[in-house]
Amino acid sequence: MATTQAIRIHSVGGPEVMRLEEVPLADPGRGEARVRHRAIGVNYVDVYHRSGLYPLPLPTGLGVEAAGVVEAVGPGTAGVAPGDRVAYMAGPGCYAGARVVAADRLVPIPAAVDDVTAAAVLLKGLTAHMLVTRVHAARAGEVALVTAAAGGVGQLLVQWLGEIGVTVVAVVGSEEKAEIVLRLGAPHVLVTPRDDVPRRVKEITGGAGVPVAYDSVGRATFESSLACLAPFGLLVTFGNASGPLPPVDTGALSRLGSLAICRPTVFHHVASAADLGAAAAAVFTRVGAGTLRVAVGARWPLAGAADAHRALEARATTGSSILLP
Ligand code: NDP
Repeated sequence: MATTQAIRIHSVGGPEVMRLEEVPLADPGRGEARVRHRAIGVNYVDVYHRSGLYPLPLPTGLGVEAAGVVEAVGPGTAGVAPGDRVAYMAGPGCYAGARVVAADRLVPIPAAVDDVTAAAVLLKGLTAHMLVTRVHAARAGEVALVTAAAGGVGQLLVQWLGEIGVTVVAVVGSEEKAEIVLRLGAPHVLVTPRDDVPRRVKEITGGAGVPVAYDSVGRATFESSLACLAPFGLLVTFGNASGPLPPVDTGALSRLGSLAICRPTVFHHVASAADLGAAAAAVFTRVGAGTLRVAVGARWPLAGAADAHRALEARATTGSSILLP
């Protein structure tokens, strides 16, 4: 059987548990395609998988997103053919030279979008799409809080909200990141820990607070983001880069103004082929038109995946990070 190189873990822990191994590469079965990777997206969920925050059966591969070329399709596989450029998200195992995946999860990459950009934007762009259209129908004229705004998802979310006409109050961890987000058009950028975020949000909104807060930092910002909300506001907690949330005191949601919390996951929102196709088209159309700019902040060889994780966890990256097989 053919083989390919892949990053695998046999135990959970720090970046050092990742090993580059030679793994079998099967022929695609019915309804499947084998994709030769040209670029692999690094996502914060890969850190949760590696650390054990999101437990997986071991040993396991890592990585949930890649872009490349279809090199073989299984019997009865419709809609894709060898030579097609595609991107996809799937369960852990994308940190590899090639992979066999269900053909109905493959998204064609438009000619105007290169492979690295596709791997940098698919999962993160679908997440931004979910956040502004499905979890909360963002509207022109409203104000939204966005944490980790210079990150992979954050930069896309800031731009998409701006396109809709939402006034973004962005939160970032350094002055350099603030510069990046200002260049993306965010009218208000707060830097932690320098700025008192709830106090500044109240000032910016004339005391009202924001109707929606998009928080991917988790434990460290949970209380602050809740405190930024207007009555009936929605906290969209969609990540835990600083650690998982404490148990939620629903009484506090009542006291703070009949607030709501939701915890969405992009894989659920694109579970059907129709939803995946529509959301991916919305992302790639914007990328092709230049209305959604994709910043690839760092590239590492596949063998350097541990360094990519170290940088991500050290808050040293901006935009999307890519592994090159
Ligand atoms: P990012 O590029 O945003 O990297 C994480 C950022 O989080 C850092 O750069 C940093 O920005 C901020 N951060 C704050 N505190 C910490 C901390 N203690 N440790 C590490 N980072 C910290 O990553 P991604 O774009 O890949 O993902 C962004 C978030 O969105 C993640 O939480 C991820 O889990 C989540 N996500 C959720 C999805 C879903 O379906 N629910 C789908 C995709 C992503 P700063 O220094 O500016 O604070």
